[in-house]
Amino acid sequence: MVPDPNDTIVALSSAPGPGGRAIVRLSGPNAAIIVDCVFHSALNRRASDGQARQLQEGHVCMPGIVVPLPATLYYWRAPRTYTGQNLAELHTISSPPLVDLLIAALLDAGARAAQPGEFTMRAFLAGKIDLTRAEAVLAVIESGSRAELKEALSRLAGGVSRPLESLRSELLDVLADVEAGLDFADEDVQLVDQRTLLERIRKGLALVTLLGKRVEGRALGGRPFRAVLAGRPNVGKSSLFNALAGRPAALVSADAGTTRDYLVHRLDVGGVAVDLVDTAGAQRTNGSILRQAQALGAEQVEAADLVLLCAEAGQLLGEPENTILERKTPPAIGVATKCDLAAAPFGFIATSAFERTGLEELRAVLAKKAREHAAPALAPSLSRCRHHVEACLRHLRRAHESALFEEPAELVALELRGAVEELGAMVGAVYTDDLLDRIFSRFCIGK
Ligand code: GDP
Repeated sequence: MVPDPNDTIVALSSAPGPGGRAIVRLSGPNAAIIVDCVFHSALNRRASDGQARQLQEGHVCMPGIVVPLPATLYYWRAPRTYTGQNLAELHTISSPPLVDLLIAALLDAGARAAQPGEFTMRAFLAGKIDLTRAEAVLAVIESGSRAELKEALSRLAGGVSRPLESLRSELLDVLADVEAGLDFADEDVQLVDQRTLLERIRKGLALVTLLGKRVEGRALGGRPFRAVLAGRPNVGKSSLFNALAGRPAALVSADAGTTRDYLVHRLDVGGVAVDLVDTAGAQRTNGSILRQAQALGAEQVEAADLVLLCAEAGQLLGEPENTILERKTPPAIGVATKCDLAAAPFGFIATSAFERTGLEELRAVLAKKAREHAAPALAPSLSRCRHHVEACLRHLRRAHESALFEEPAELVALELRGAVEELGAMVGAVYTDDLLDRIFSRFCIGK
């Protein structure tokens, strides 16, 4: 159930816990009246009879607290606010018991406790942000890495929603022309000729396909997944690297420590780009060039999304291997090399660069890990977008077919309408309570 947008809601919108400043936010028609019950400005002004934008120093008074608590009130009157409603923020000392008392006092004064994401939902309902942007707000809040944050921030700036809007309005124009033609069907008047219509539908198809690609690209985040081959010198990392790359890119030799630098090769595993990195092995050494190369290797391991820890089949694992395998970040998987000579240790992927065995299995694991890694905060939004893009393409293809075979214009209109609706659902121009609920319930309270 979508909560009543006409209630005045309140929540702590800064991070909970002790800190410099707590922000308690209110949104709704009675925000000013409710704030006036609790906040007393130093100049004796009331939010409810002040200006459209106010900043007032003062204090809040709460039952049971004798000493007034210093606070600043920010007030913005509707409609030019984030939520499109009257919006108030009380900034005060971040002491959890005091903040609890303050919120209780505001609830007593007539506010309702906000549900998760309710502020952003109101912004959406007021038409301040579209659904893709609302989801981007969520992604910013949830983003776990810099790459995810960057991606989410660019979404917030409207990266997908703007091209989507223009595409939708173009299709609406085509639909309007086809529907206008329906009124004159009996009189044999044609508003758009078949060639132009086909051209416009084809253009729509191309644009939606592009949009789909963009969505997929986003699913893979800003940079490709980075898998780093690590292990002692001479275990066969470079040979494995070459076998996976399909060409002799890395220098292979029987001397320990041949790979002095690091090499990167971009693999395409099941449609996903993976950067495979070959590093110098982990081995104690006195040689300075080797030491530098190893430091570089260690850096590469730190920057990895996944470490492919290589160990020679039949050899015992040492402390360095176990340390890498036990670490959580970056995650590591064991890859046994030279399995033509001996059996792989338990839990390792068995490979042999010489016999080219185990390579497909390794590729499949890389593809799976790369997909799992892909921007998890955006994943629900992306799968939703993908669904609508595909449905939209289906409608457009059928519209094209109907137009091509000169089927009744009603059929073309029907399919075009379907396509427009799919794009609409994507931007949130058409939405259901259920969808809103699903998206906004993932927000935290106060956002
Ligand atoms: P790195 O130092 O870990 O990069 O190891 P290299 O790829 O340079 O290989 C070290 C040695 O192991 C070379 O002599 C390779 O010919 C040998 N080697 C590599 N892969 C295999 C394999 O699959 N089977 C066998 N039997 N030897 C291999």
